[in-house]
Amino acid sequence: MPDTATPVLPIEPPSPMPASPVPEMKTALRRGVRGVCPVCGAAPLFAGWLKVVDTCANCGTHLGEIRADDAPPYFTIFAVGHIIIPGMLWLERAHAPELWVHMIIWVPLTLALSLALMRPVKGATIGLMLKLGFGRPAEEA
Ligand SMILES: [Zn+2]
Repeated sequence: MPDTATPVLPIEPPSPMPASPVPEMKTALRRGVRGVCPVCGAAPLFAGWLKVVDTCANCGTHLGEIRADDAPPYFTIFAVGHIIIPGMLWLERAHAPELWVHMIIWVPLTLALSLALMRPVKGATIGLMLKLGFGRPAEEA
């Protein structure tokens, strides 16, 4: 039986290519850390705690297509580890406290730092990715 249905045109996903030029690296990173669009800096970057808005309400950049994936948790773990581990080692060498003292200090501090840094780090990662051309069509990247 011949297919008489209306031909389906291929739907191209919207390009994450920003409508306006991405600012210099420092500015894009700073805007991402502040949780605003790295391109224009005038609209929120996040629609929830870590959910990125699909499209910037101000400049129209398709931010939801920038896939940061595991990079923000990796950078967060890297930073928190470099803060917590030296403190833990210093405390152990200086005062040699009981294990429970380490637990009540470092476990909550690790959780608090991780939660506090995750969102700014994700914003900075998206700013970095936009500046480096992630998400652009291959011929433009
Ligand atoms: Zn914007």
